[in-house]
Amino acid sequence: MGSECTCALVLSAKVRLLPWPRKRSLVVLGYPDSPTAAEHVTDILDTGPVGLEFFERGIVANLRAKGFESAGMGELPEGDTFVLVEYGADTQEETDRAGHAIRERLTALPHTPDIKEYDDEQHQADIWEVRRGAIGSTRIPQQHGGQAGWEDAAVDPARLSGYLRDFRELVERYGYHTVLFGHFGQGCIHNRLDLDLTTAEGITRFNDFIDEAADLVLSYGGTPSGEHGDGQLKAAFLPRMYGPELVDAFERFKAIFDPDWAMNPGKVVKPRAPVDDLRLGTHYHPAELDTHFAFPEDGFNFADAANRCFGVGKCRHLDGGTMCPSFMVTREEKNSTRGRSRMLFEMMEQSGERRHPWRDEGVKDALDLCLACKGCKGDCPVRVDMATYKAEFLSHYYEGRLRPRSAYAMGLIQRWSRVAAWRRHWPTAPGRRPWSPGSSSSPSASHRSASCPGSPPARSGASTAGTGRRTPTARR
Ligand code: SF4
Repeated sequence: MGSECTCALVLSAKVRLLPWPRKRSLVVLGYPDSPTAAEHVTDILDTGPVGLEFFERGIVANLRAKGFESAGMGELPEGDTFVLVEYGADTQEETDRAGHAIRERLTALPHTPDIKEYDDEQHQADIWEVRRGAIGSTRIPQQHGGQAGWEDAAVDPARLSGYLRDFRELVERYGYHTVLFGHFGQGCIHNRLDLDLTTAEGITRFNDFIDEAADLVLSYGGTPSGEHGDGQLKAAFLPRMYGPELVDAFERFKAIFDPDWAMNPGKVVKPRAPVDDLRLGTHYHPAELDTHFAFPEDGFNFADAANRCFGVGKCRHLDGGTMCPSFMVTREEKNSTRGRSRMLFEMMEQSGERRHPWRDEGVKDALDLCLACKGCKGDCPVRVDMATYKAEFLSHYYEGRLRPRSAYAMGLIQRWSRVAAWRRHWPTAPGRRPWSPGSSSSPSASHRSASCPGSPPARSGASTAGTGRRTPTARR
């Protein structure tokens, strides 16, 4: 196990790179459920794949519930659990041969899956995109919180089927709902849960759940953390896994490196309780603030909108997609969609105790470089709409105060356009051509420019239908 920054901070590391196969082929297997699929894991591993992942159909359903559609979703085989088996080699013939071999092997076993093979890069990329979107798909605002509770427990792949059956039964017994996905080849299972982490009863229930989940995974000889570390949430179970003597030795080991107990305290050894320091918790009582926009998809509540982001970090990508241009340029967390969401969440978290939550300079600063391009509304897995949140925030931030001159210049453009159109009729000095806005050419060109070609004429009190925006009289 790693010390998870409790003893030292790694500043640089030397790594050994493995050759990247020049050709790949992808075999996609469809099974009725995850435990049945897991019965074939060791047979698949025997064929030497370079990648072995899985996800349940619920991932596709979740993505569609949020309006996402992609080519890969339509290319999956029959079934409710999909196993992606990837082979790599220097030539396409070699990878194809491996793909055919797995077909022969699995058709000889009970519970033969539906099988699809893809050796072209586009189809492979389409299907991997669905798997990559799994974690982002788990949160459905107002329906499923997608909270990390028992994220990455792992067992020996040979014992995976039984573990998945028992884990599913445990989740159902506690009344939670989840969709499973993860790394079949390593027996490491990811899932997100719909937890109640704002009431004392819900938190106690979650505490009991992870306690039983720890016993379950250990009964299969596995580990509560297969990938992301024990941290604070899982550290309480280390004495059960390693025994108290070994954990005592961990503690003495840390004391040698970190006698002042300054390196990531409260994690791994002498940990704080799993449910201490929750992001929400029983103290989370945001104020119900009046808003101009209705936020109908967030329960008509700005606090829920500010809590949409659950930290997946897709907005920190630098390659492809629109989201998020200000992060791509500055590489600063506060200029990412996630950073801004976090600032708004903290503003709302404290809103119950603050007199003027909308006057937060830190939030204003974080929103300053947001282009309001709506990239996040389209690309973010939970469709954070920062452009709308920014408009809402700034309208309150400037209430009763002067805005910057640029805001009046652009925000009142329809009035300036009318002034410009009217100015066109002013008499001109003999021998000079009539003035027109943006051009010194013909009056007809100036007329088109002033009245915004392609747009209906501006009217005060224009309709806001379809924007989810409140009329002034309908403010909450
Ligand atoms: S609207 Fe703002 S936060 Fe969203 S992608 Fe554009 S710049 Fe980033």
